[in-house]
Amino acid sequence: MFGQEIQQLIFLLSRFPGLGPRSGRRLALHLLKKKETTLLPLIHTLQRAAEAVKVCSECGNLDTSPVCSICTSTKRDSKVLCVVEEISDLWALERSGEYHGRYFVLGGKLSAISGVKPEDLKIPFLVNKIKTSGITEVVLALNPTLEGQTTLYYIRECLENLPLKITGLAHGVPMGGELDYLDDATLTTAMMRRQVV
Ligand SMILES: [Zn+2]
Repeated sequence: MFGQEIQQLIFLLSRFPGLGPRSGRRLALHLLKKKETTLLPLIHTLQRAAEAVKVCSECGNLDTSPVCSICTSTKRDSKVLCVVEEISDLWALERSGEYHGRYFVLGGKLSAISGVKPEDLKIPFLVNKIKTSGITEVVLALNPTLEGQTTLYYIRECLENLPLKITGLAHGVPMGGELDYLDDATLTTAMMRRQVV
């Protein structure tokens, strides 16, 4: 029914998060019909993003410089470090605008079932960073899921006996909820009222 080029486009598009074959077909059709205004600018933007975007070596965020603008900003409080599971959580907290410290992105959560170990999440690197960079508060902004909380308790244990305040997001974050899906007001309140864990 379709040529190889169209088939491949549909296949790639349908593998994006939240999409499937049906939305892949719709999207492919949209791009091909509006080539000048959507497909060509998209190709250009993807190409530029692929060339320019890097993972920050300090926190795991994405930016166009090797160390991201949050890590290099002198306006941020370098003594407060917020640990999140995913970049989407960092972006959600930045949108809420309440947090002014720095971040560390784990890139996942501990999971016995999926075999995710502390080393896979750079937790030893994180602990060493906390010990050596004069941090006074660590905010463990992990999702209120079973694995998120397991990760929180594991990191808290690693930091035991250090002269640190260790806090977590306040209640109001629904159980099983992901930070990225919360409205900004809820997330702002959860950050403002963060509690010692
Ligand atoms: Zn960074």
